[in-house]
Amino acid sequence: MKIIVAGGDGFCGWPTALYLSKQGHDVAIIDSLIRRKWDRELGVDSLTPIFTLEERTQRWFELTGKQINTYLGDMTHFDFLREVMRQERPDAFVHFAEQRSAPYSMIDREHAVFTQTNNVVGTLNLIYAVKELVPDCHIIKLGTMGEYGQPNIDIEEGYITISHNGREDMLPYPKQPGSMYHLSKVHDSHNLMFATKNWGLRVTDLNQGVVYGLHTDETQLDPVLVNRLDYDGVFGTALNRFLIQAAVGHNLTVYGAGGQTRGFLNIKDTVRCIEIAANNPADRGEFRVFNQFTEEFSILDLAEKVKRVAEHEGIQATIDHIQNPRKEKEEHYYHAAHTKLVDLGLKPHLLTDDVLRGILLTVVEYKNRVVMEKIMPDVKW
Ligand code: NAD
Repeated sequence: MKIIVAGGDGFCGWPTALYLSKQGHDVAIIDSLIRRKWDRELGVDSLTPIFTLEERTQRWFELTGKQINTYLGDMTHFDFLREVMRQERPDAFVHFAEQRSAPYSMIDREHAVFTQTNNVVGTLNLIYAVKELVPDCHIIKLGTMGEYGQPNIDIEEGYITISHNGREDMLPYPKQPGSMYHLSKVHDSHNLMFATKNWGLRVTDLNQGVVYGLHTDETQLDPVLVNRLDYDGVFGTALNRFLIQAAVGHNLTVYGAGGQTRGFLNIKDTVRCIEIAANNPADRGEFRVFNQFTEEFSILDLAEKVKRVAEHEGIQATIDHIQNPRKEKEEHYYHAAHTKLVDLGLKPHLLTDDVLRGILLTVVEYKNRVVMEKIMPDVKW
């Protein structure tokens, strides 16, 4: 298949592009490299030293003989996107290219407006480019489990059957996002759903959980292919952040009580989920939703796991319940369906102590690159 991976220079996009290329697909990357600019704005950097996109794709070609075309540009610029679509005419378009940090979107008005413009306009442009040039192309869009919020009932995969005043219908599952970023994903979902109904596009919305880990078989082939890894208070996500905190002797920063429960998955499963979605396209006119995570944990569960594994390796780790910078439920019911990807063949990599140890020992190698002042959260909402 001819597959475009937008956001292919990022944490999920880069390993996905390599994995799909290895499977024999003809892969092209779109990225504006804006993520690297946000690092400079915030005074942080990936824990792992990442190479330029050009160096990365060149080394991949040297090692495998597989070419990944790169298009440096912004999804919010329609003429650019349209031209790439005209040249590539993809069978599938994997859309990772969004601003994905909730804290970044909550810094101030400007960052909220930027996040929603970047994400919503990029996706709208994609809808119109596909409609005009490649209406059969399967859009595989990264959403987030955060779109649903934390309702006091089970979360379904995209839709829920509701009986009301004697009638019944299957309706989109209610959305209760918790940040301007998560709201942007909800807006995307609505726009995509409308586009599938109205113009018969085919779309899979992958409501992804929090991703942990950094290596895949492909990124591990060579240091030039290494994946990015974020630990700072703005872009660092739970679990990866705790592991890095343990590695550098920083307290593990649990926000509030730590009962916040979310879905998690290994980066190795992210790449496989994308492949599964691509190999099993949605029908024309279908807005298909998969919940893309493999296990649920509370934040405190994760901190305790990291502490135990770190101490086993002779690294002292202390759990610190800091004041929660976010407005969110700290103790709540959480149970979300996630069977559709497994039904299509996903074999999850579960979070064992060995997996935690592997990530911990890798991050220890890079611990001298950590900017300690950037670890604590400083964005509040
Ligand atoms: P990332 O920031 O590492 O990568 C995103 C990439 O997209 C970056 O390389 C950036 O330069 C590019 N980009 C952003 N806006 C762009 C634009 N307008 N035009 C072109 N390129 C643009 O993020 P990630 O962690 O790889 O996340 C990828 C996607 O997965 C996001 O949509 C995110 O919402 C979703 N997601 C991620 C996680 C997670 O835990 N990392 C969890 C759930 C969902």
